[in-house]
Amino acid sequence: MTLHDTYDPSNIFAKILRGEMPAVKVYEDDIALAFMDVFPQSEGHTLVIPKDVTARNLLDMPPEKLGPFMLVVQKVTQAVEAALTPDGIVVTQFNGAPAGQTVYHLHVHIIPRSEGKALGRHGSGGMADMGDLEKLAARIRAKL
Ligand code: 5GP
Repeated sequence: MTLHDTYDPSNIFAKILRGEMPAVKVYEDDIALAFMDVFPQSEGHTLVIPKDVTARNLLDMPPEKLGPFMLVVQKVTQAVEAALTPDGIVVTQFNGAPAGQTVYHLHVHIIPRSEGKALGRHGSGGMADMGDLEKLAARIRAKL
């Protein structure tokens, strides 16, 4: 059962929030942290995670924190669009393993799409080059 379970503070995103694991950061404030996905499904694939919550997924998110969090998601999505000018952008999240979730701290994916370019496989693509991610993050940060 992965849809409803106890929040595990040793999950990778909690470690990133505590500074115990590195991340290529794009944006950070009191509400959320945005960083580059290391197994990107497309160039510029960015993740946004809420701070100060023990929410495994959307169902667990305190309602009063959801609105402010989604405003950060929109802000980062706008910066991704301005920086990378994709043809489209998928903004999505998964709840529970059968839905595709692999990390159990609520996160929203921002995935730029280009006409005619196939989407990489979710959770099973290759690891990105850190230098490339740093360059992409710098371009996105410049639009924030
Ligand atoms: P989920 O499958 O839970 O919706 O998404 C988890 C996402 O986290 C995947 O897209 C995966 O590529 C990404 N991911 C997994 N481990 C790490 C990591 O250590 N660092 C970063 N930046 N992304 C990760």
